[in-house]
Amino acid sequence: MSRFLRVKCECGNEQNVFGNATVKVACLQCKKTLAIPTGGRAKIVGKVLKVL
Ligand SMILES: [Zn+2]
Repeated sequence: MSRFLRVKCECGNEQNVFGNATVKVACLQCKKTLAIPTGGRAKIVGKVLKVL
C-alpha cells in the first residue's frame, strides 16, 4: 500500500515522506536522513506525526 507520512525531523522541519520510498529521503532543511529504503517499506528515521 502506498502512502505518505508526515515526518518531523529533529531540527524541527516537517515534511511529507513517501512510505515506500525507494531512494533515501533527506530533510530539506538540515539534510539529515529521514527515510532509508529497505526494499519494502522505508525505514523512517524521524518522528512520524501522522499518516496522510
Ligand atoms: Zn532536519
